[in-house]
Amino acid sequence: MVALKPILLAGLVHLHLHALRGLAWASSSPTPQQIVRDLQARLSPGSEIVLTSDPGYARDFTQRFAIATPPAYVVGVKPVAVSDVQAVVRYSASKNVPFLATGGGHGYTFSLGRLESGIELDMSNFHSIDIDPAANTLTVGGAVQIGNVTAALLAAGRELPVGQCATVGLTGLTMGGGVGPYGGIHGAASDSLLSAEFVTGTGDILNVSATRHADLFYGVKGAGFNYGVATRLTYRVYPLTNNGDVMVVNTQFPGPLNGSVWELASRFVGRQPKELTLDFSLRWNASSGGMVAWCSFYYVGPQAEGLRLIQPFLDLGPLNVEIHAARYDSISSVALYSAESVGTIRGISFVPYSVNLYAIDPPSLISLFNYMNATMTGRPDLQTATLAWAQFSTYGFQLFPVESSAFPYRDVAVFFQYDGFGFNASQIPALDKFGKNVRSLMRPGSGRTDLEVYVHFGHGDEGPAAWYSAAKLPRLNALKAVYDPKNLFSYYNPVQRGRYGH
Ligand SMILES: Cc1cc2nc3c(=O)[nH]c(=O)nc-3n(C[C@H](O)[C@H](O)[C@H](O)COP(=O)(O)OP(=O)(O)OC[C@H]3O[C@@H](n4cnc5c(N)ncnc54)[C@H](O)[C@@H]3O)c2cc1C
Repeated sequence: MVALKPILLAGLVHLHLHALRGLAWASSSPTPQQIVRDLQARLSPGSEIVLTSDPGYARDFTQRFAIATPPAYVVGVKPVAVSDVQAVVRYSASKNVPFLATGGGHGYTFSLGRLESGIELDMSNFHSIDIDPAANTLTVGGAVQIGNVTAALLAAGRELPVGQCATVGLTGLTMGGGVGPYGGIHGAASDSLLSAEFVTGTGDILNVSATRHADLFYGVKGAGFNYGVATRLTYRVYPLTNNGDVMVVNTQFPGPLNGSVWELASRFVGRQPKELTLDFSLRWNASSGGMVAWCSFYYVGPQAEGLRLIQPFLDLGPLNVEIHAARYDSISSVALYSAESVGTIRGISFVPYSVNLYAIDPPSLISLFNYMNATMTGRPDLQTATLAWAQFSTYGFQLFPVESSAFPYRDVAVFFQYDGFGFNASQIPALDKFGKNVRSLMRPGSGRTDLEVYVHFGHGDEGPAAWYSAAKLPRLNALKAVYDPKNLFSYYNPVQRGRYGH
């Protein structure tokens, strides 16, 4: 469990930064009080509109998890109808007031910190979940959390590939693709999207699908936060694989075995069964005084088959082994020894750096491991950093052609991430420097010359070619000209840098 005191401290620093940013208020912009009055006149009666300095804001509005460089809001708006979302977009465009939609509040890219003196468009009233088992569809509001959706789907005997954290917003996830254990079977979450009700940067409400505004639909699936706000989304869902039963095996290996772990993991590249996921977390262990490798294996199939596949890992002699019979909606609650992910704590100073791996090169990874071990020794401020390794089969991702959507990376062997978790804002500079070095060491064995990063795992400094691929940028830029010509949507790893001089 994490000590509360440092989090409180981080919160205070965060408030202080907000106050400082308020000083930069542009004189031509309406004051926060004026924004509240203007929006009260424009939105339907059930909508909530408050100053962020109002106690009701902290109480009623979705607060962010990662606060290393958060967007700075002066007004919070909670719309109740799609026409309210439209009104906020139009108002912001006409008055030059930046805004950002909030779904689950889990976004952590440093690019979010470019938003200053803006409006939080909290979508949490859009939380409906409707499943049509006969049509095999799921229709949700734009702010539902993954955990609520997976529980409802399991009860209906259906599944959808989603991410691994129950409190992440399904829409936010889908807008960037959405990768997770069932991706090996069905592809990215965005590949299962059938249609969306979307308020564009032009303030229009469009129903987008493969047949209506197909150009925008392409962009919504993998780069959606660049073009507008999704208020309702419909997905294709699938009958449960293996009746919803999933084998989860947790193992822990001492640091010196890391080379053997990489070697065995590399054997799955290009031939990983679609039902198998390797989910590793490399972290500092205070009692051994070095890094250890926590390795979880998920298999959506009979346990005996799953155990046979991972037997070479078990033969290495892990420090311990836990075998769980999990369900479609409970993988993350038992994975990695059921440890609470620090990323799910509100107010954490999270510093991410990531690289897509297309190959697994044990010598490079051993060097990386040794560098981290040596650097963290005697540095408690760095010992909260972890390495996260998500290795899915590419089978499901490759069911969809790369031209089918903005989601660019269908042949990734491992989504690899440095998670610099800071419980205190004072840790950020050291975690940042450490993370940059770790990223440099991740790259040589990645199997690519240019940096490629899954947009949701990006730090924010990689640039659009790394997040969306150079090949897709002309098409994505052309969509901006049509659907967001004023570039209102430019704070989340954007296709184009923002209009406010950032
Ligand atoms: C602990 C943790 C675990 C994660 N696990 C995974 C994983 O397994 N797989 C994976 O793919 N990703 C994962 N992620 C990354 C996650 O997908 C992104 O952080 C995502 O942006 C979170 O969406 P959100 O709605 O929760 O966050 P928010 O911060 O609310 O939103 C993120 C971005 O999406 C936009 N957005 C949100 N709602 C809407 C909407 N209705 N319409 C338009 N834009 C919207 C926001 O404006 C913002 O730009 C994880 C993140 C964390 C912190």
